[in-house]
Amino acid sequence: MNAIAIKAGRSSPEVIDVDVPDPDDGEALVRTLRVGIDGTDFEVLEGNHGGFPDGEDYQILGHEAVGVVDDPNGTDLEEGQLVVPTVRRPPDGSNDYFERGEPDMAPPDACLERGIDGAHGFMSEYFTSPAEYLIPVPTAFAETGVLVEPMSNTAKALEHAFASRSMFDWEPDTVLVLGNGPLGLLTLAMLDSTVDRSYCLGRRDRPDPTIDVIEELDATYVDSRETPVSEFAGVHEPADLVFEATGYAKHAYETVDALAPNGVGVLLGLPGDWTFDIDGGRLHRELVLENKALLGSVNSHVRHFESATESLERLPDWFLERIITDTYAPSEVDDAFTDDDDRIKTVVEFDTL
Ligand code: NDP
Ligand code: ZN
Repeated sequence: MNAIAIKAGRSSPEVIDVDVPDPDDGEALVRTLRVGIDGTDFEVLEGNHGGFPDGEDYQILGHEAVGVVDDPNGTDLEEGQLVVPTVRRPPDGSNDYFERGEPDMAPPDACLERGIDGAHGFMSEYFTSPAEYLIPVPTAFAETGVLVEPMSNTAKALEHAFASRSMFDWEPDTVLVLGNGPLGLLTLAMLDSTVDRSYCLGRRDRPDPTIDVIEELDATYVDSRETPVSEFAGVHEPADLVFEATGYAKHAYETVDALAPNGVGVLLGLPGDWTFDIDGGRLHRELVLENKALLGSVNSHVRHFESATESLERLPDWFLERIITDTYAPSEVDDAFTDDDDRIKTVVEFDTL
């Protein structure tokens, strides 16, 4: 079968021929429909993130998949059921995080990530997975199901953010989403019915497809070249919730300035090393005196995928049509992995229902 993989010593992916995998006990065989591409895949290609499976000289890419159960192999799944796989797997056997059903809380050395770190991904005509990590989704998700995984990361981050404010009366009126990539735009849409006013930060000139989506969602576009995050509260209004999805390290600290008293900032971006000056004393004081919270969040697990599935059902069609901008066949791998500003979410389509 065809798979899209990165080989050792290379920086661009290629189509390779591998055997259709055999499901082990407890695993199902899934026929892949679509796999989404995101910034993490590019980091894997550049060798900045993750690593190959032990003893292999290539890694199959892809962690945002939707497929159809081809062989339930004695599991509770049914043939023909549409499923979305979770990403994390235990390194050897299992460990406490997986046994507790909380692999998303495992530190990096206590988990593998399919398509990212130490395990093959889902960018192949078929893949296998333990049935417990395959989330059933409605048949209507055959094209859009690739969005469940990124949305599940938001679902987890918001769960933690709201939990951190759960000991007092807190109802966010305003949200500032930092970043107009797929994660930022999906988050903006997911929060549409939760807050009264939303803002989304980018650094692009008009016309731009992401700014169009932001405005269609009735959110305000904030250009960081004109209004840095540290000045956001003065120019617009302090935000009850800040959701960082830029990977721009200064935003982690500037978030404290953008927050309203009692607000929470949740950080998802994955920056490289960067040393810069900040007034740490002032930010520390503000966090304390204004009861602000700042927290990091990575990955997601079954209940976040289920919550993301419910959220995806509520997203309007126009939004979904505008988010998935490019669809390629596996043979068009070079085009699929080209990045430009006209694209929001690119998917590789292996098959249709
Ligand atoms: P993208 O790289 O597609 O999106 C990031 C966006 O932020 C881009 O549109 C970029 O604009 C914008 N941006 C970056 N710096 C600035 C700035 N200084 N001012 C304004 N806008 C800026 O990534 P994704 O949307 O896929 O993901 C967002 C981040 O979250 C990434 O760092 C990713 O690694 C991380 N991530 C984390 C997860 C987690 O579980 N914690 C899960 C998934 C992703 P432009 O395109 O114009 O450069
Ligand atoms: Zn992703």
